[in-house]
Amino acid sequence: MPILTKVSGALREAGVEFCTDAKSLFSASLDHARYSFLPDIVAYANGPDDVSQVLKIANRFGTPVSVRGSGTGCAGGCVPTTGGIVLDLHRINFIEIDPLSRIAHVGAGAITADVDKAAWAHGLFYAPDPSSHKYSSIGGNIACNAGGLRALKYGCTRENLAALSVCLPNGETVKCGLPLRKFSAGPNLRDLFVGSEGTLGVVTEAWLRLLPLPKARRAAISFFNGDDEGFKGVEKILLSEITPCVLEFMDSETLECVRRRNPQLQIAPGKSALLAEFDGTESEAEEGARRFVEILSDYGARMAKSEKEAEEFWQVRRKSSQAMYELGDSKVNQDIVLPFREVCGFFKFFKGLGRELNLATPVFGHAGDGNYHIHFMYYAAEKNARERALAGMEKAIFKTIELGGAVSGEHGIGFLKSKYMPAQHSDCELSLMKEIKKLFDPKNILNPGKIYSVSDISGLQPLRGVKLPWD
Ligand SMILES: Cc1cc2nc3c(=O)[nH]c(=O)nc-3n(C[C@H](O)[C@H](O)[C@H](O)COP(=O)(O)OP(=O)(O)OC[C@H]3O[C@@H](n4cnc5c(N)ncnc54)[C@H](O)[C@@H]3O)c2cc1C
Repeated sequence: MPILTKVSGALREAGVEFCTDAKSLFSASLDHARYSFLPDIVAYANGPDDVSQVLKIANRFGTPVSVRGSGTGCAGGCVPTTGGIVLDLHRINFIEIDPLSRIAHVGAGAITADVDKAAWAHGLFYAPDPSSHKYSSIGGNIACNAGGLRALKYGCTRENLAALSVCLPNGETVKCGLPLRKFSAGPNLRDLFVGSEGTLGVVTEAWLRLLPLPKARRAAISFFNGDDEGFKGVEKILLSEITPCVLEFMDSETLECVRRRNPQLQIAPGKSALLAEFDGTESEAEEGARRFVEILSDYGARMAKSEKEAEEFWQVRRKSSQAMYELGDSKVNQDIVLPFREVCGFFKFFKGLGRELNLATPVFGHAGDGNYHIHFMYYAAEKNARERALAGMEKAIFKTIELGGAVSGEHGIGFLKSKYMPAQHSDCELSLMKEIKKLFDPKNILNPGKIYSVSDISGLQPLRGVKLPWD
């Protein structure tokens, strides 16, 4: 009997729901990066027991399992590159708020924004806010250590996580940490799973830290002549006493696209921009924004005088990602992190690469974290354009690492960036990671081909014309 017939028979016997129809297989075949690999089976976990059953069965038959939250990942982490089972967690989505402990106990499939909203009713909030928060799952956030716009003040997912329940590849469940304010009872295994992208175990439940909901927010914006002046503005804010919760930079190429597509925003040509938001009590938020305007007064910084104006400032950032399709119908992009002192130097190099390769290079990102989304834009029909973009990105990544930066700040490695792991880490670091993987997953069934083994993607093409819910 073929192995997959045995696997589906065992899943049926264990009472795990699964699908093998073409539509379900295709939906589970890709993430936001749009490289599609069809699985053989999509299994839907209704609770932790189903996760355990799927992993026990996969272990018995040596079947690969790709763990899937919402599929908003940008590195191909949940994509079943070796076929087998996609284990879909979206149904484990309960949310319980404990206001006394300021903890949210949630299922791995709970949607990030829903957790935040559920906390509001108790005067609390969940701080990590990836731009995908209306779609991404908490399990996916933990697996990638997702950041977001507010990471500058509140940290990424790791800093807001109290404890985890994880199902190991052999089907056994372990609790990592406890939902307490403090925990010093031995090494906290929780931290091993944060950022491990579903290669060591499947997160089934999480206990997340909540914070008192700020009473007020104030937005401010500054426009600069070109990029260098903008980076100077960022430095001035970072060297000051203020801590915005949001500090987002849009370079002049990005802003030109936003300007062209959105004349109603009345952006002057040739500018870069820095958007900031301050939160806290009324007076804290007001004072933060006032100081931002004062520090950047040479550049005409402005504080929003109304909610409507604040929304207009935010539109400049929100429109950035889509607007850059003014410069091409396709992109190769990364979410690098740079040491603050190297930002100007790196971008001189990056823009030079763009000129050399005759490709547009718009950049925007979380300036307060040194985490920039860098892009090479191209037209797919243009001969060799994609190859040029890939070659340029490789040079940009090696430069980032040479300068002491990181290939990813929040999207993770998946299979799309695994080729950079040997440049990012020493042999010793890499072999430790591989040993840990072997210890947890000796049969290499969980997300095989991700992070630790180098993938060559040069011959692969992302699908075009596929619309995803968050597009
Ligand atoms: C428009 C857009 C904006 C984005 N903005 C941001 C941003 O601001 N900040 C940011 O950090 N990211 C951002 N992302 C990337 C993405 O949303 C995050 O990486 C998110 O954390 C992925 O969550 P997911 O549920 O979609 O995970 P998936 O894409 O389903 O999976 C991602 C990885 O997590 C693993 N995984 C998923 N669930 C589990 C689980 N329960 N247990 C173990 N492993 C699991 C998968 O195997 C895979 O390796 C953005 C994406 C899009 C499309």
